[in-house]
Amino acid sequence: MVQIKKEDNLQVSILASGSTGNSTYIETPDHKILIDAGLSGKKIEELMNSIGRTLKDVDSLFVTHEHTDHSKGVGVLARRYGLNVYANEGTWEAMGQRIGKIPGEQKHILPAGKVQSLGGMDVESFSVSHDAADPQFYEVHYHDRAFAIITDTGYVSDRVRGTISDADGYLFECNHDVEMLRMGGYPWPLKQRILSDTGHLSNEDGANGLIDVVGHRTKQIYLGHLSQENNVKALAHMTVQTMMQGRDLAVDHDFALLDTDPNYATPLTVI
Ligand SMILES: [Zn+2]
Ligand SMILES: [Zn+2]
Repeated sequence: MVQIKKEDNLQVSILASGSTGNSTYIETPDHKILIDAGLSGKKIEELMNSIGRTLKDVDSLFVTHEHTDHSKGVGVLARRYGLNVYANEGTWEAMGQRIGKIPGEQKHILPAGKVQSLGGMDVESFSVSHDAADPQFYEVHYHDRAFAIITDTGYVSDRVRGTISDADGYLFECNHDVEMLRMGGYPWPLKQRILSDTGHLSNEDGANGLIDVVGHRTKQIYLGHLSQENNVKALAHMTVQTMMQGRDLAVDHDFALLDTDPNYATPLTVI
């Protein structure tokens, strides 16, 4: 059997996660990509530097949907670093003028349900249910490893569960605690939006989604896109841990449950 060396593996850092901005960095020996660029170019470069990397090495950027917390830095990064940018047609249209001009040869259309191959790294897109033009998230495959990202969805469909089941790593949404959201200061229409089928996953939704998809291969689970108003890191963590343990899943033994932060990158980790 050929042993894959540690440095030949898929490595991931959640650069930032939350309603204030999202970006995930993924690297293999041949390719370095970002999923979303929802912060300023300057802030993303700072976060990259904090894990010993630079945007100069990144070749491609995959955008999930047009909401500012996912697309704020898209135009700047494309122009400054010459990145190839991938998104579906609906998202390109919805980002429109707001991201400024991107040279035609750097703009790529990746519809949902397709795979974009980048020399050994395959990026698979899948649709989610969220109040954006045509939101899609991604699972990245490299050799026998897979890392799946799913945030910004009102629910996890059977189809999505099938696509992302038994990945080695996940970034999974735990947006809000339902009670905190209900009791909190958000206007009612906004509360309804978040709780709807095209809103965001609550801590319980995230836990149930994870219970359905984790498998023997799963080693790392990042809890992401936490609301700063309607959630607390420790509460999200405890809710998911308790619910998974209730289903006899060996949290901290079979896999690690990891927190993310809106302002700090998680250490670059082999998946
Ligand atoms: Zn978002
Ligand atoms: Zn969104």
